[in-house]
Amino acid sequence: MVKANAYGHHLDLITPLIENADILAVSELSEARQLRQLTHRPILLLSGIYTMQELQEAIDLNCQIVVHHPSQIHLINNSTQALSIWIKIDTGMHRLGLSSKKYQQHLPHLKSNTLISIECVMSHFACADDKSHPMNQQQLAKFETLTSDENNRSMANSAAILSLPASLFEFVRPGIMLYGASPFTDNNTGLKPVMRLSAPVLCLKTIQAGEIVGYGANWIAKKKTTLAIIGIGYGDGYPRHAKNGTPVLINNALCALVGRVSMDMIVVDIGDIEVLIGERAILWGDEKLRVETIAEHSNTISYELLTGVSSRVKFVRSK
Ligand SMILES: *Cc1c(COP(=O)(O)O)cnc(C)c1O
Repeated sequence: MVKANAYGHHLDLITPLIENADILAVSELSEARQLRQLTHRPILLLSGIYTMQELQEAIDLNCQIVVHHPSQIHLINNSTQALSIWIKIDTGMHRLGLSSKKYQQHLPHLKSNTLISIECVMSHFACADDKSHPMNQQQLAKFETLTSDENNRSMANSAAILSLPASLFEFVRPGIMLYGASPFTDNNTGLKPVMRLSAPVLCLKTIQAGEIVGYGANWIAKKKTTLAIIGIGYGDGYPRHAKNGTPVLINNALCALVGRVSMDMIVVDIGDIEVLIGERAILWGDEKLRVETIAEHSNTISYELLTGVSSRVKFVRSK
């Protein structure tokens, strides 16, 4: 799964590292266009196509197309070119996918169309990140019943790959785990972070007890405190809702965010650790400071943080 610019990791940096994947999946045509510049590997278009022009472009880009709605079946039936498709079934999430009835109704026609090659039948879990949620077994059972005659099936996202062995089938669809983040709230998956976000210490200052930090004056020093001002903010994708106390790694020590996150800066209480101006603070992407922790402190999920790093941030491939 390399949609959303490889979960914010930049498609051009990630694509060369996963060239041995059977197929690379993107959400929309604009992403497929960009990905085709980078690889000759098969591409799967997850949201499918909505017009004859889009279908033509998807064919020209040599994409396999997810078909999830009867209107798309209508479009591909009118095509005179060979086409590889994945059929998506809605097994209960009620986002994309054919209902079981529509699936059973259309499947024989799609199979008898010699221009159409059905590569795989897929569905998506609503609650796989909650290992004990009853939806998981319900969706799986529905999918198994509906697709028992098919040779190529796909259901598992990262959470299911890690926790629902019965959902693996022939194709798995790892997303967040490829980038070393856990889909669960507990982080003990052994996955290693791929992205490290860092920013420089711009300056240091000491304030006295009773003095405030940042917009809204929402943090007040209880005692004399040494602060580091770090050059990163919500304009870079650091979450504005990160709470007081959110950890920041400086000089290998976990320090606490204090005051509100600004557009270009955050302020960190460095306690009595040694910090130099220009030194880089790590915001996430270290064994000691995972993006999941920052997500927890800012009421969001790692997916949103990783995909939200802005274009102002310079991306480089290490090593
Ligand atoms: C994004 C996506 C995935 C990957 O999900 P993760 O939770 O990131 O592993 C799998 N399947 C589909 C259809 C998706 O859109």
